[in-house]
Amino acid sequence: MMTRIAVFFGLLAVLIGGGVAVDTHTLSPRMLLGAMQARAQIPNIAPNIAPADAPLPGENSQPDAKPADKPAEAPAQQPYVIEPPAAPPVPPIAVAPAQEPPAVVVAPSPLPGAIMPPPSAPSPVVAVPAPLPTPLPPEKPAIAESKSDKAVVPAKTLFAAEKLPSLGKAMAIGYYPRGCLQGGVALPVNGPTWQVMRVSRNRNWGHPSLVRFLEKFAPAAAKSTGWKGILVGDMAQPRGGPTPYGHRSHQTGLDVDVWFMPMPGHTLSAEEREKTSAINLVADDWKRVNPKTWTPQHAAFIRTAAEQPGVERVLVNAAIKKEMCRMNGTRKDSWMSKIRPWYAHHDHIHVRLKCPDDSPTCRGQPAVTDDEDNGCSDKALAHWFSDKVLNPPKPTTPPKPPRPLTMADFPPACQTVLAAPERAQSN
Ligand SMILES: [Zn+2]
Repeated sequence: MMTRIAVFFGLLAVLIGGGVAVDTHTLSPRMLLGAMQARAQIPNIAPNIAPADAPLPGENSQPDAKPADKPAEAPAQQPYVIEPPAAPPVPPIAVAPAQEPPAVVVAPSPLPGAIMPPPSAPSPVVAVPAPLPTPLPPEKPAIAESKSDKAVVPAKTLFAAEKLPSLGKAMAIGYYPRGCLQGGVALPVNGPTWQVMRVSRNRNWGHPSLVRFLEKFAPAAAKSTGWKGILVGDMAQPRGGPTPYGHRSHQTGLDVDVWFMPMPGHTLSAEEREKTSAINLVADDWKRVNPKTWTPQHAAFIRTAAEQPGVERVLVNAAIKKEMCRMNGTRKDSWMSKIRPWYAHHDHIHVRLKCPDDSPTCRGQPAVTDDEDNGCSDKALAHWFSDKVLNPPKPTTPPKPPRPLTMADFPPACQTVLAAPERAQSN
């Protein structure tokens, strides 16, 4: 009899210990997401893409950059503005031009509170006969979502879970790679001269100034290029904040990617918007534009973006900047200075707007300071064509993934934005 009891309790312990039964309904979707993501270690970006879509202050990372181009010192009372060091450059290997990783697939994974057996442990269930009626394991108490949970859930998980913008007056808060968006508005997915790509990502949100910019830029670009319109990539999530994949910036509703590709004459289907890839304009050696894909229309497209009022930077691949410099000759144009080299950006431009007047806690980048040479001098471009960038040594051990940002890393106002009631979509 004692043996039977021992076997029963042993079996019970195995069942519970193995995490076989956990009531998932006691966990909020947010916690589930957090746990899944923490366990699943979802790759953030396609391996062929430089990790940093988010230029840091002055975004020139060449060692000889002028002092004014170097990151501004972060005031001590604003810990969130301190930037992590720039991610190590990744060789821009010429693979598929799709700069965007596929949508996140979350693998089913254990839930918080479940005690996991070591991965190599044999399955405990098979060998034991089950003569006794199997009692239900005791219910686990619901885990309350406490403040401390919030602090450890990656901020990208919290922001990605918000499907609608917050109520409140529109405001860009914080810094492009460390901020959020209050009262965001959506760019309609179809306009007279634009169409939004990758609609499933729900990243066609921005500060109203970004939507206004696109509504003006799209027809202007169509006019200067002869294209039917433009294809708009990622803007921001409804409440901004970090994205689970694809970007480091795009957090304050002031950044947008626009593809190097004319809008077609028909309204794209949902599937076309997900599966079409943008065109790579850069040659295989990453030192010049590709004559097979680069056209004068692309130059007009980039220039038109840089000429729009309120634009702080237009980021392009360095080979594209070099070609724009060659075409522009020795003319001194402030729009040319706003076109800056950055990793990736071989199949899209990234337009970054200045902080809007209505956003006192928004932090912008220093104005471009190299107007003398429009950022075109050999010295200004040398870094981007150096071995350090084009053929960096392979790390012997895989680099440790950076610690995911939590809400503690953000301006306190972003916590308010996350907690705010949602505003129903108006378009
Ligand atoms: Zn971008």
